[in-house]
Amino acid sequence: MTPAIEVRDLRRIFNVRQGLFAPPRQVRAVDGVSFAVPPGSVLGVVGESGCGKSTLARMILGLLPPTSGEVLVDGQRLSSMDRKARARLIQPVFQDPFSSLNPRRRVQDIVAMPLVAQGNIDRATVARRVAEALERVGLSAEQGGRFPSQLSGGQRQRVAIARALVLRPRIVICDEPTSALDVSVQAQILNLLDELRRDLGLTYLFISHNLAVVEHVASEVAVMYLGRIVERQESEALFHNPRHPYTQALLASVLTPEPGLGVPDVGLGDIMPDPANVPPGCRFHPRCPRVFAPCATQEPRPTTSAAGLVECHLEG
Ligand code: SF4
Ligand code: MG
Repeated sequence: MTPAIEVRDLRRIFNVRQGLFAPPRQVRAVDGVSFAVPPGSVLGVVGESGCGKSTLARMILGLLPPTSGEVLVDGQRLSSMDRKARARLIQPVFQDPFSSLNPRRRVQDIVAMPLVAQGNIDRATVARRVAEALERVGLSAEQGGRFPSQLSGGQRQRVAIARALVLRPRIVICDEPTSALDVSVQAQILNLLDELRRDLGLTYLFISHNLAVVEHVASEVAVMYLGRIVERQESEALFHNPRHPYTQALLASVLTPEPGLGVPDVGLGDIMPDPANVPPGCRFHPRCPRVFAPCATQEPRPTTSAAGLVECHLEG
């Protein structure tokens, strides 16, 4: 079966300058990532901030060109598609519905936007499709006439989801879609996304720093660390039998979360991963509790098996 999303050796390097006279430094935000997502499934992507999750999402959405590598959506090269065709196939839902919704437009006009941007669609069809999308996400016609500021955070995220669905895409890229919401509202939005996926046969790439959220929605999980996927497994296997030391540390940190930080304390000291300064050898070695002889100098290669992928010298 053709994967809904396929990513082949994807890379994105940014040249950043910290001050006028400082030499540019290379940030390898995404550093050779490959995976395939079967249609109708959910690939969760987890990792701390700065690991490259959002850069990955933006490349798959066509918002950022890769430095090298390739994105295929529904078997077609993303780079060979125009914007309108891409929009019909793949849509985003971002973290902060407040900043991603135009405050001066009514909900129904916000939801209509992707449809109107396609051109050549009559008003009656737009109205019908907008009503359908609003109903799908549990918003009334009356709420469609309001402005975003007149809605709650959860309702605003429903608007963002309706806008993503109005073109009836096959794939939705969710980048921290519930991170700005209260916990009780988070569950409602996650349930809605799950229901929509089943009813409409959608495929999700679901990005989050929150492991509990990913466990709830994902069929498979990829763990990112400094631009690479260091482990990928079926969701249940990953949560019950994490194989990479970084995944193990992330899961352990869920039991002792640092309140208010939004970033898990992995319990591995104060070393923060710096994408402008990727360590040699295994990029996780300065923080790894199981570091041994080859780790500081030799980069581990990915070991793949029926169980998934692990990039660690302890494997194989
Ligand atoms: Fe730890 Fe070495 Fe495995 Fe890297 S390769 S995760 S440093 S044991
Ligand atoms: Mg991000």
